[in-house]
Amino acid sequence: MNRKTHSKKIYLPEERLPKAWYNIVADMPNKPLPPLHPATKKPVGPDDLAPLFPEALIMQEVTQERYVEIPAPVREIYKIWRPSPLIRAYELEKALDTPAKIYYKYEGVSPSGSHKPNTAVAQAFYNAEEGVKKITTETGAGQWGSALSYATQLFGIELQVFMVKVSYNQKPYRKTMMNIWKASVTPSPSGITDTGRKISAEDPGNPGSLGIAISEAVEMAVNDPSTKYSLGSVLNHVLLHQTVIGLEAKAQMEQVDAYPDVVIGCFGGGSNFAGISFPFVRDKIVGGKDIRIIAVEPDSCPKLTRGQFRYDFGDTIGMTPLIPMYTLGHGFMPPAIHAGGLRYHGAGAIVSQLLNDGFIEASAVPQLESFEAGMLFARTEGIIPAPESTHAVTQTIREALKAKAEGKEITILFNLSGHGHIDLGAYEQYLSNAIDNYSVTDEEIAENLKVLDQMGFPKIEKQK
Ligand SMILES: *Cc1c(COP(=O)(O)O)cnc(C)c1O
Repeated sequence: MNRKTHSKKIYLPEERLPKAWYNIVADMPNKPLPPLHPATKKPVGPDDLAPLFPEALIMQEVTQERYVEIPAPVREIYKIWRPSPLIRAYELEKALDTPAKIYYKYEGVSPSGSHKPNTAVAQAFYNAEEGVKKITTETGAGQWGSALSYATQLFGIELQVFMVKVSYNQKPYRKTMMNIWKASVTPSPSGITDTGRKISAEDPGNPGSLGIAISEAVEMAVNDPSTKYSLGSVLNHVLLHQTVIGLEAKAQMEQVDAYPDVVIGCFGGGSNFAGISFPFVRDKIVGGKDIRIIAVEPDSCPKLTRGQFRYDFGDTIGMTPLIPMYTLGHGFMPPAIHAGGLRYHGAGAIVSQLLNDGFIEASAVPQLESFEAGMLFARTEGIIPAPESTHAVTQTIREALKAKAEGKEITILFNLSGHGHIDLGAYEQYLSNAIDNYSVTDEEIAENLKVLDQMGFPKIEKQK
């Protein structure tokens, strides 16, 4: 049997499962810039982060080691759904009549249906090791909250989730999942923090945002010494844990003698994109490989394509350190698109530096095109993608059609970050022609960025 040409689902023997995560910082020519204290504008040290995170994660945040061992108990839990399948999208290729070979890594096979348990389980493990009893977090579409709920109860940790109000109302089943996994879930802005009460008083109809929910979760954690906080994207240690995706994908592609010309991931804070792409970015930095690596965002929250690279708060209220990020300004309130996980104003420090240095590129796609892509994918490959993941599908289709126009036999690898089974309300709206595109004006972006000038948050120059 010739598995090299005919397999759809690509095999990976157990001995080839990753034993360590890959830390791209070791290979970056310009290292990510440090977070700054908002008042002193001095780099934030490990001590400043101690109220929020366990020490092991703080060390991972700053480590320059190229590989970080995956603890054995974490690898044991990973085995429930890992390796995730790498699938050759023959049916999609046929529908597009493209010479491009399309492969996708499917993270929807995890317990909560997305890539997020890859870091949730690791974070719960390190918190439990250090005796943490309770964690707070925020969630947008509910993907992160459900992943962390699953992980924390495995390790006997209590969880309080602040869920962005618009998603709380759109996706009631996500709350049920979190409750099954023992978490308390509160819509944000909530009535249980000062931040939530203040925002609700000023603007009673506020639909919430990831930035506000982060402020609430951080507030609750800093006010209680036995409580820590956990973030599902953006931070260096989160991106590190997600590299298990790309490490597996690379080994799986090797099984069939394939290697991508283009690697694609959708982009919220950067974790699934980093996960699929960083092992390939390494080949580009270290091995000089000629690969395009594309982060795909919604055009209604366009930080990578229309934001500025500068220091900004990670949340809306300003409780976090200043992070060097491509940002639309921490006050930017994205429209209530269905891809709730992509409604975040900034990008992580590592991904921002890589974009600034030209190792990766970014693309923005409208909501309607993303749903059309999701429909075609569902009708060919059979999997109904999460609204976030349809952004990666959209760019893949664009690249495959371009390859067809140019007659090029390229290989595309993309990350299908999750399934959309809890997002059927969004597809229902698509089927009844109720999905709109939202546009963001230059003035709106400029206004939010002007606030950062007024606050004296530094812009970051292009480095050599
Ligand atoms: C959360 C989420 C995203 C966006 O977050 P990243 O950190 O950018 O990966 C994308 N897809 C799915 C399915 C998600 O749950």
